[in-house]
Order: sequence, then structure tokens, then C-alpha cells
Amino acid sequence: SGRIVLAARPRGRPQLSDFRLEHVPVPEPAEGQVLLRTMFLSLDPYMRQQMDAVAPVYSSSIALGAPMVGEAVGRVVASRHPRWRAGDLALGPAGWQEHALLDGNALTPLGPMQSPSQALGVLGMPAFTAYVGLLDIGRPRVGETLVVAAATGAVGAIVGQIAKLKGMRVVGIAGGADKCVHAVEALGFDACLDRHAQDLASRLAQACPSGIDVYFENVGGAVLDAVLPLLNVGARIPLIGHIADYNGATDRGVDHRPALLAAVLQKRIRMQGMIILDHYADRFEAFRRDMAGWLADGRIAEREHRVEGLERAPEAFIGLLEGRNFGKVVVRVGDD
Ligand code: NDP
Repeated sequence: SGRIVLAARPRGRPQLSDFRLEHVPVPEPAEGQVLLRTMFLSLDPYMRQQMDAVAPVYSSSIALGAPMVGEAVGRVVASRHPRWRAGDLALGPAGWQEHALLDGNALTPLGPMQSPSQALGVLGMPAFTAYVGLLDIGRPRVGETLVVAAATGAVGAIVGQIAKLKGMRVVGIAGGADKCVHAVEALGFDACLDRHAQDLASRLAQACPSGIDVYFENVGGAVLDAVLPLLNVGARIPLIGHIADYNGATDRGVDHRPALLAAVLQKRIRMQGMIILDHYADRFEAFRRDMAGWLADGRIAEREHRVEGLERAPEAFIGLLEGRNFGKVVVRVGDD
């Protein structure tokens, strides 16, 4: 059975040589365990931080030689857990592996959905992050302006679409013209700007004539610099991620702290960090109900960036960190 392990800790941008494909015998479940055969593996930016020797407090560092971490949807092949039977579909922390041995308690059943891979995207963690971050921290109001970057990505696309449902003016920022056309035409954003454009700050000012009331922060870097001068008094910033920094800071020459602190202070901004793991117990059911309804009514569009084969996961992951993905990245590891 194939699996991809962490071969070396990346310095800056991950390289293909930081990953290694191995073949190991298919394991047998012990009491309480389940053997899962992976159908779809989710690739997510947080995995980059777990490749470092020191990971964020809410997660853990991957040991050298251990399988890469990740959520996956798969089929139970064998079970020694009372709740699971061979043939069941489940979501669980299988990692980058064709087969995973998991504690039966770590698996969750899939609710009703059109395709099992939706459990990793529009009906799973990234869209749930968008929902809680926007509604609970962003607190949208009709007529206000929201800005979100990585606008066609797993989280950003859902943030913008829910904001539209709540009556906001939505301005996206994305890498490249194709993504910007998609954000406006398929996702219904009011405008979308290419983050690689030279004059991003002035274009953003033009696109936000009444300033910015909610900045859904998932990228940091140059986008944050362009947003800061446009924030309105009383603006809210759900702080969900800062992917521009995950491979290590690139522009250490400029100290951005004074501008950030001055903006937060003078404009009485409320900025709040959010880790989605904290919210499953109290908010997931509301999310699942609302999102299922919006999908059924055709009010939320989804776009998946599907990669075929576990062996292509490293390349796809490196691409995700740089914006070469177009939609939620999912690796098809095996057949149903
Ligand atoms: P995406 O599908 O949005 O893919 C990442 C995107 O980030 C790329 O496609 C690229 O989009 C954009 N990007 C990469 N580098 C930069 C840069 N330097 N400046 C601006 N944009 C950049 O990933 P997700 O939706 O899965 O994740 C988005 C963010 O949300 C991440 O920061 C992630 O860590 C965070 N997150 C946080 C969670 C939490 O619990 N706090 C949960 C889930 C996600 P483009 O080229 O189009 O600009």
C-alpha cells in the first residue's frame, strides 16, 4: 500500500525531495480500530506548518519519516470497532496514505451529499471555516463591503458567496485573470482584482468606494498592506490564516507593525483569530443545515481542483501554497 512520508523539513518553499513515496504492507486493525481505504485526500495549507520542527500550538509537528497528515474520505475495509462495518463511508485523519489504521472514534460518517469529496470542501472544514469566520466574527450587515483574498480557493470562495447572501458588497482578490473572471461570473462577487497587478492598492481603493467593513484575513502579506488604509471605523477582521508567510517571510525589510497597530487602534478595529477545530461541537450542525440548503437552492457554487493519484500529492501541495490551484484541492487516491 502506498503512502507519502515527510523525508526532510522544508527550508522555505517545499521541494519534491522533502516528500517520499513508500510502499508498505496493508495493516490489520487491532481492537477498537478500523482500516480505511482512501478515496479522496484533502490538501490544505495548514500542512505546511506541520512540516516544520515546531508546529502551531493547536497541532503537532510531523516526525521525519512519518506519513504526511491530512483528512480523507474513504471506505472501511475492516473494522474491530462496534460502530463501523466493512463498506461504510467515513471521514477521518487518514494522512497521505492509500490505507490507514484509525481509532474508530476518530472517524465520522458522511451526511447526505452528491459526491463524497464534498465532505472535504463545500460541506467540510474549509467551508465551515468560512461560515464561522464570516458570520460569528465578521458579523456582516447589509450594504457593507467585504474583502477576501484567495477568492476562488476553498475558504475564500465560500466567504464571498455567503457574504453576498447576507447582502454585502463583495470584492475578491485572486491570482490571475481567469480566477477573477470566475469570482465575478460564477461566484457572483461584485469585483475581483488580480493580486499580481502592480497597482493593487489603488485598484482596491477604486473597487471599495465606501471603504472596507469586513476584511476576511486568510493571506496576510501585500494584500493586508493594500487593505489597511481602506478599513472603516469599526471594521471587523476575522483572522483565519496568513498563507503569504507559511514558507517563511520574504520581505523582512519592511516593518509592518506600526501601520497595523495604528489602523487597529485609530479605527477601533476588532481582529480575532479563529481555529475551526474549536467550533465543531457548537456550530457544525448549523453550518451543515444552512450549507445543504444553499447548495440545494443553487445559491452556492463550488469548484474542485482534482488531482489524480497519491503520487501527485506533493506537486499539488507545493502548487497550493503558490496559487497554482483553482478551487478546493482534492487528490483522488483510489476508486470507490
Ligand atoms: P486555497 O484553496 O485558498 O489555496 C491557497 C491560496 O492562497 C492560493 O490558491 C493562492 O490564491 C493564495 N495565496 C498563496 N500565496 C499567497 C500570497 N502570498 N498572497 C496572497 N494569496 C496567496 O486554500 P484554503 O482555502 O484551504 O486556505 C486559505 C487560508 O485559510 C489559508 O491561510 C489557511 O491556512 C486558512 N485556513 C484556516 C483555518 C482555520 O481554522 N483558521 C481552516 C482552513 C483554512 P491566489 O493565487 O488565487 O491568490
